[in-house]
Amino acid sequence: MIKKYVEVWENCLSVIKDNVHSQSFKTWFEPITPIKLENNVLTIQVPSQFFYEWLEEHFINLLKKTIKKELGSDGRLEYSIIVDSSYETNSPYSVLYPTSNVRATRNPMMSMPLDLNRGTTKDIPNPFIIPGLKKIKVESQLVESYSFDNFVEGECNRLARSAGYAVAENPGKTSFNPLLLYSATGLGKTHLAHAIGLQVKNNFPDKTVLYVQTEQFINQYIESVRNNNQNDFVHFYQMIDVLIIDDVQFLAGKEKTQDTFFHIFNHLHQNSKQLIITSDKPPVELKGMEPRLLSRFKWGLSADLQMPDLETRIAILKRKLYKDGIEIPQEVVEYLAYSITTNVREMEGALISLIAQSSLNKKSITIELARQMIDKFVKNTTHEISIDFIQKIVCDYFGLPIDQINTKTRRREIVQARQLAMYFSKKHTKSSLATIGLHCGNKDHATVLHACKTVTNLIETDKNFRNFVNEINKKIQH
Ligand code: ADP
Ligand code: MG
Repeated sequence: MIKKYVEVWENCLSVIKDNVHSQSFKTWFEPITPIKLENNVLTIQVPSQFFYEWLEEHFINLLKKTIKKELGSDGRLEYSIIVDSSYETNSPYSVLYPTSNVRATRNPMMSMPLDLNRGTTKDIPNPFIIPGLKKIKVESQLVESYSFDNFVEGECNRLARSAGYAVAENPGKTSFNPLLLYSATGLGKTHLAHAIGLQVKNNFPDKTVLYVQTEQFINQYIESVRNNNQNDFVHFYQMIDVLIIDDVQFLAGKEKTQDTFFHIFNHLHQNSKQLIITSDKPPVELKGMEPRLLSRFKWGLSADLQMPDLETRIAILKRKLYKDGIEIPQEVVEYLAYSITTNVREMEGALISLIAQSSLNKKSITIELARQMIDKFVKNTTHEISIDFIQKIVCDYFGLPIDQINTKTRRREIVQARQLAMYFSKKHTKSSLATIGLHCGNKDHATVLHACKTVTNLIETDKNFRNFVNEINKKIQH
């Protein structure tokens, strides 16, 4: 008897697994726990209201089909939603990876190769003959936590991630050479580049991997000119097996450094050594680069990274919390992922500030605290029209405090402000009725629909009302 519901749900999961992306499966199905099976009703427990609505919105047909298959046509599904009551903030429950690591805490701006050059010049009087160079141990400058395990896969990074993985399995031997990763800032280029380097070191401990930031490379070059040991500089780089050069756009306009890099590039490429390059633009848009260098960049594969979608953002935040051994309520994680659409770094920044705020002020981490934080954060980072932004404009217009919209109050002016916020959210955002309801006082989609109808009716019948709706609308669109 006890086993039955577990079994039923497991059977459902095996069908579901074949029908959704693995990322979706991890995000939306793995956290579900089956609870009971009574009168042909299977009850499953989900972590939050938001979770339930997301399932209903995106996976309802699939769920229906699998339930029917398992329990017959009168089988039903019931959700039990966990209501988080007492939040124990900052209570570590498990740490997956060592959080401190010698390499990870090293200052990456250390003049690593120059130290090494000093070593080599001492051993080798003639810089053109470099026997024994291979024996030198190169500090890779890789950050251990930027691993593949910690890099969440999504539609946004699938090509780049799998190309990176292929490169790490077979460095220098695939057609992805160089592998050029590009994206706007904060979307994971540096992380992915490190992940490839770390994976190569795992797979091939004898290979020499080096991660270098372009600015560091430029400074080292300038230094080598000053010390008149450019050859050592070039030779050092030519003995690397996997060279990762981050933010190559900084080479723009630096002709001499580009020239030197060109020679290093050719040497490595000819010897089937792997190059991994990151850039904030695709090669065609890189200005101030020598054409011959640009054409080299196009030899291999250029793969871009996009802003992750909501579920991937949630998964990224969860991964980070898990890695740091911190627990915060699911609804807050969802709220952060939902609200920050600029880039992953901003989102992680908001999470860190939130955790800091809560531990400094000894407040528990709630949606309210997150909202206050995001007001500060997102104001100058995004101009996208969000539900929050609309609520703020509507409340400012009526001189109401924004948190009133999310209370249960039935006071007329609040009800009206809430209805307007719902109406404008439907008009200006791509959010579903359910999502809008969730963010406007935790209402269901029927309430939102009703609000939209009420506002539309009033616009048609009441001239005053129509005027202020127009004014608010202007403010929302600037
Ligand atoms: P970029 O180099 O493109 O500016 P970073 O690699 O520095 O971006 O990424 C910014 C932050 O976002 C890092 O802390 C990184 O770990 C995190 N991040 C970005 N994408 C992902 C992802 N897919 N999974 C996990 N963390 C990510
Ligand atoms: Mg970077």
